[in-house]
Amino acid sequence: IPVDVFDLVIFGGTGDLARRKVLPGLYRRFLAGQMPEDSRIIGAARGELTDAEWRAQVAGAIAEFVPKEKQDKTAIAGFLERLTYVPIDARGTTGWERLKELMRENVVRAFYFSVAPGLFGDIAQRLSDHGIADAWSRIVVEKPFGRDLTSARALNEVLARHFTEAQIYRIDHYLGKETVQNLMAVRFANILFEPLWKAEYIDHVQITVAETVGVDGRGAYYDKSGAMRDMVQNHLMQLLCLIAMEPPWHFDPDAVRDEKLKVIRALKPVLAQDIVRGQYAAGGGEPGYAEHAENSASRTESYVALKVAISNWRWQGVPFYLRTGKRLRARASEIAVTFKQPPHAIFDDAKGWHENVLVIRLQPDEGMHLWVMIKEPGPGGMRLMQVPLDMSFADALAEVSEDVPDAYERLIMDVIRGNQTLFMRGDEVEAAWAWTDPIIEGWESRDDRPQLYDPGSSGPEDALMLMHRDGRRWREIR
Ligand code: NAD
Repeated sequence: IPVDVFDLVIFGGTGDLARRKVLPGLYRRFLAGQMPEDSRIIGAARGELTDAEWRAQVAGAIAEFVPKEKQDKTAIAGFLERLTYVPIDARGTTGWERLKELMRENVVRAFYFSVAPGLFGDIAQRLSDHGIADAWSRIVVEKPFGRDLTSARALNEVLARHFTEAQIYRIDHYLGKETVQNLMAVRFANILFEPLWKAEYIDHVQITVAETVGVDGRGAYYDKSGAMRDMVQNHLMQLLCLIAMEPPWHFDPDAVRDEKLKVIRALKPVLAQDIVRGQYAAGGGEPGYAEHAENSASRTESYVALKVAISNWRWQGVPFYLRTGKRLRARASEIAVTFKQPPHAIFDDAKGWHENVLVIRLQPDEGMHLWVMIKEPGPGGMRLMQVPLDMSFADALAEVSEDVPDAYERLIMDVIRGNQTLFMRGDEVEAAWAWTDPIIEGWESRDDRPQLYDPGSSGPEDALMLMHRDGRRWREIR
């Protein structure tokens, strides 16, 4: 579906994120015919580049980050024609008048802040001082949105001086994934799941975001953050909300976000014994975390596992186990909802374990699998086995269209459409920090050391124990 004509300004248009995600994503939307003819993309960054030089950089980014089969010469040329570059100083006067002259009336104006968060306030201020942003303009801001409640509040306040909440789009690209949205469809468009979606029928939930990469190259940055700030406060928290929230009255941005906020507010403080922090050790010829972080005494966690409780009627007594880490066995993000045993066993099955699990897989191979019990085929009597009812989105979507937008593409198009459903609201972000802050402060005050784990493993030993002592086990990371 085409969107309205737009002028999209990318502050930081020469940076890493713009090169890897934003510009290749926009090219793909252009290729898919979703970008109206007259739309323009304006790069605004510190370097003194001409239009031609920036276009050459963007062509390089497309060559590097767009799959070969999507690299169409004519389309690339057409896309590059829509690009203009303005050298700008976020903290000075250079470039702002030129940018103002470039902006057109009667088109959607969007400003993507793909720069360090320390510049958000400067840019917001100048956009409004120069009358570049109007009441219909949108701004897009990237993570990290603060590093604790105080800094997140300060950021919200700076932006609120110049923009209303309805104009601010805080990106969490996890929310742009096809499966994440499908999770809402599965929950709220089927009668099948919602009646069972509560403590009475659900044993526990596991949320895993495992990476194989380490912090190589960005170690110094990451060392100030750690897994809790970098992954749990935003991505894992958002996934938890979508699983746990009540049905919104309508699929409307504020209705959805109101329900997510209620979940975050209902999270119980986490006990120290319910958290495991880890740091990857050296191994396989690769240096360990501390060496990457250029700080041999670093206590920053590259892995964290937690047992979380939600204090409301629906989830009374249902643990949510969250874990995320770097340099683990495989790259895998998934949510697994494990249902309780049937109340009475009629089969004399050796295993005696009749488990239904709904697995929602975000990457790789997005899809959902519902594990159900069936009879083992053949003459062996009434023996049971677990089989998956499979819904691989790659297959399902291949039948509909080849052109499924990735998370960034979808979210940028949502900005142009003015749909905030898949973006975090300011109060949500603050509530999430209010929950994570005491955990991080606890570590700092106790001077806790993360447990070392082997690269390529599934994390520290203690994380296994976190589940074992409850008589449960983590799903294999694969
Ligand atoms: P980067 O350092 O690669 O790029 C920064 C950009 O900002 C450059 O284009 C630079 O010219 C511009 N810039 C710097 N100072 C400026 C100034 N005073 N005036 C005008 N422009 C200025 O950074 P990045 O990795 O692209 O990250 C950008 C933002 O996106 C950060 O907030 C980062 O946390 C966030 N982010 C990045 C990634 C990623 O994969 N790179 C992922 C998630 C979030």
